[in-house]
Amino acid sequence: MNYKTKLTGMVVYPNDPEYPQARMNWNPFTNTFPIVFVFAQNTEDVANAVKWARENDVPLRMRSGRHALAKDFSQTDGGIVIDTSHMRNFTVDKVNGIAEVQAGIRVGQLVRALAKEGIMAPFGDSSTVGIGGISTGGGITAIQRTAGLISDNILAATIVDACGEILQVNKDENPDLLWALRGGGGGNFGIITSYTFTIRPAPYQVGIYEVVWPWNQSEEVIDEWQRWSPSVDERLGTILEVNSKINGLLRSRGIYLGPKAELEELITPLTDVGSPIKVFIDEVTLLEAIEFWEPDEPLFDTQYSTWSSSWVEQTIPEEGIKAIINFLEKADGSESNFFFLNSGGAMNRVSPEDTAFFWRNTKYYIEWDASWTEECDAQKNINLVNQTRIQLQPFITGSYVNVPDLNIKNYGQEYYGDNFARLRKVKEKYDPENFFNFVQSIPPYHNCCHRDDN
Ligand SMILES: Cc1cc2nc3c(=O)[nH]c(=O)nc-3n(C[C@H](O)[C@H](O)[C@H](O)COP(=O)(O)OP(=O)(O)OC[C@H]3O[C@@H](n4cnc5c(N)ncnc54)[C@H](O)[C@@H]3O)c2cc1C
Repeated sequence: MNYKTKLTGMVVYPNDPEYPQARMNWNPFTNTFPIVFVFAQNTEDVANAVKWARENDVPLRMRSGRHALAKDFSQTDGGIVIDTSHMRNFTVDKVNGIAEVQAGIRVGQLVRALAKEGIMAPFGDSSTVGIGGISTGGGITAIQRTAGLISDNILAATIVDACGEILQVNKDENPDLLWALRGGGGGNFGIITSYTFTIRPAPYQVGIYEVVWPWNQSEEVIDEWQRWSPSVDERLGTILEVNSKINGLLRSRGIYLGPKAELEELITPLTDVGSPIKVFIDEVTLLEAIEFWEPDEPLFDTQYSTWSSSWVEQTIPEEGIKAIINFLEKADGSESNFFFLNSGGAMNRVSPEDTAFFWRNTKYYIEWDASWTEECDAQKNINLVNQTRIQLQPFITGSYVNVPDLNIKNYGQEYYGDNFARLRKVKEKYDPENFFNFVQSIPPYHNCCHRDDN
C-alpha cells in the first residue's frame, strides 16, 4: 500500500470488532468483504479516501443508507467503501424554501423532522432508506404527483469527484453535473456529501386510506387500480401491494393532500371492486400520515431478495396481469411482492430531457421481488424474477435505476432512455478514466467497453 494520503474519519478494517456490522446491508444478498470502510465525518474525509483509493488502486464504492437492492452497487469484495452515514446534519431555510441536507441522513429522520416544522418534501416512503442513494436516482414517493421526484427538487450539491476534489454543483457552477445528478443514479459521478433541496409548506391535515381484499381477488383489483389511479386527482398518491400467494396480502393505501370527505369520494372505484375486508379512511396531520405510511421496516432485512422494476405507459392487458399472478403463485418467499405506485401530475410535467430522469410519460410504476432464506435458493428466485420481466416486456417501458436488475443487459437505455448518451458525456467530463466504475455504472462517452454499447 502507498501511504501518501492517510485515511481519515472512522476507519474499519476486517480485524476490527466493528467490521461484521459495517459490512451488513439491508439486503443480505448484497453483502461482500471489502478491505476497509471509511465512515466519513466530513467532506475532507471523503476526499482523502478517494485519493487513497486512487494511489493504492483499490476499487471504490460509496454508501449512505445501505439499501442498495443489487450486488456491487455500494459494496464490493476487496474494495474500499466510503460511507457517509455519520454525516446527518440538516438546516432549513423556510424563507427561501430550501433545506441543506447531509447525505448520510435517512428518509424517516428527515421527513419527520421537517413535518414537525410544517414542511413537506418528497423524501420517499421507507424510513430507513438513505438520502445519499435515493435522491440522484429519482426518488419516487406517494407525493410525487404534487411535489415531483426527489431528484426534481435537488437545487445544489457538494460532491467529491474522481480526483478527490470537492466541487460545488448548482445552476451556476457545474450545471451539467446538476442535470446529471437529477436522475443519473448513485455512484456514477462522485460522492455527494450534501444536497440542497426545495421544500414546501405541508397542508394542515391530509387524508389517508387503506383497503384490504382477499388475495384471490388480486386479478380484478390490479385491473381496476391500474385504470383508476393514473387519472385520479393528482393530490392522491396511491400504492397497491400484492404479496405472494402464501403470504396472502392484497392491499392499497394512499395519501391525499386534501380533506377526508373528498378522499372518500375519490376512492369509490376502488372500494367498489371485489369485496374488501377492510376499508379505513381518516384525516390526520402530515406527521401522523408519515407514521401510518411507514412500512414495518427494519434497518436490515433477514431475507435475501432480488428485484426488477419498470414503468407502465399503457394499461396492462389480461395476459400481463396473468403473468403477475403467476409470479405471485410461484414465489415461495413470504416477502415476495408486486408493488404499484401511480405517477402523473408534477412528475410528468417535467420534460424527459430537462433532467437526467427520463420516464415522464408513465401511468404508474411497478416493481417485483422474490425473497428467500436459504442461500442455495438464489438462482431459482433470480430466474423467476427474470422470467416475469420477459413475460411483461411487451407491456412495460424502461426500468428504475434505484431498483436495478443485473439481468438487464442494455441497462443504459432501460434506466436512462434517450438521456443515456448525454449522461455519458457528463461522465466523460467529470470521470474520464471511469474511476467510479461498477457493474451497471455509466461509462464515459469514449469508453467503448463491451457492456456499454447500448
Ligand atoms: C426497503 C426499501 C424501501 C425503498 N423505498 C423506496 C422508495 O420509497 N422510493 C424510492 O425511490 N426508492 C426506494 N427504495 C430504493 C432506494 O431508492 C435505493 O435502494 C437507494 O439506492 C438506496 O439508497 P441508500 O443510500 O439507502 O443505499 P446505499 O446502499 O448506501 O447506496 C445505494 C446506491 O447509491 C449510491 N450512493 C450512496 N450514497 C451515495 C452518495 N453519498 N453519493 C453518491 N452516491 C451514493 C451507492 O453507491 C449505490 O449505488 C427502497 C429500497 C429499499 C431496500
